[in-house]
Amino acid sequence: MQMLKEKIALVTGASRGIGRATALSLAKEGANVVVNYSNNAKKAEEVVKDIERIGSKAIALKADISNFNEVKAMVDTIKKSLKRVDILVNNAGINMDRTLKNMSLDEWSKVINTNLNGIFNVTKLVLPLMPEGSRIINMSSIVGQYGNFGQCNYAASKAGIIGFTKSLAKELGKKRITVNAIAPGFVKTDITKNVPFFRKKIISYMIPLKEAAMPEYISDVVVFLASEKSRYITGSVINVDGGLSI
Ligand code: NAD
Repeated sequence: MQMLKEKIALVTGASRGIGRATALSLAKEGANVVVNYSNNAKKAEEVVKDIERIGSKAIALKADISNFNEVKAMVDTIKKSLKRVDILVNNAGINMDRTLKNMSLDEWSKVINTNLNGIFNVTKLVLPLMPEGSRIINMSSIVGQYGNFGQCNYAASKAGIIGFTKSLAKELGKKRITVNAIAPGFVKTDITKNVPFFRKKIISYMIPLKEAAMPEYISDVVVFLASEKSRYITGSVINVDGGLSI
């Protein structure tokens, strides 16, 4: 029995990594998926094809989430063609790591504009399309809870997402819309591929479960938060980190 049959999901940054895995995991449970991407149309179309092979419907829509007008154009298209969004996964994010001493204003602003202002843009504009009982799932990070050397901009954005999640959960509870965040630890994706080998070794050593996460370890939890099984969870941050943060 598929848990998300007939549901419509929007996943931001869904052309690769955790977003791609999330789009596919939701589709396996029967959801039809809007695959948002910012520049790689080819990869996004591949995800659409993968979803169709699973037996669900999908459409790729371009929008830079840090650009309010681009997001508005995407949401207008969704409104015209699909009418509603039951599951919003705010996944897209970037990092530009540098110590604060060496960080430029541009590096600070780009990360905040994408990771934090992007969540405002997408959620603000999608919310009117979300019926009672919908789900919002935001991708934070354990770095937003504990900080990390060289990631003041990224950590601030991911901590901001937690505050956003908890506040919005309070605002939307009466509509039975749940709002939760996931805090991944170390996941094997493009964002972490430049982490030097020795650091990967240290991280593996520090992770009680002794492995970096595959994107599916995160997307499985997205599916749970998108489903009826999580009906009484809202305003929570679920750490999916193999124990890295304990
Ligand atoms: P990734 O770099 O593989 O994927 C990020 C996706 O976001 C890409 O598809 C990218 O094109 C998209 N994106 C970036 N800027 C965008 C914009 N302005 N508009 C639309 N899309 C945009 O990285 P990932 O690891 O899959 O990251 C997914 C999310 O998980 C991010 O929010 C990231 O911060 C978070 N996260 C990742 C890890 C990890 O270890 N990989 C850990 C904690 C949190």
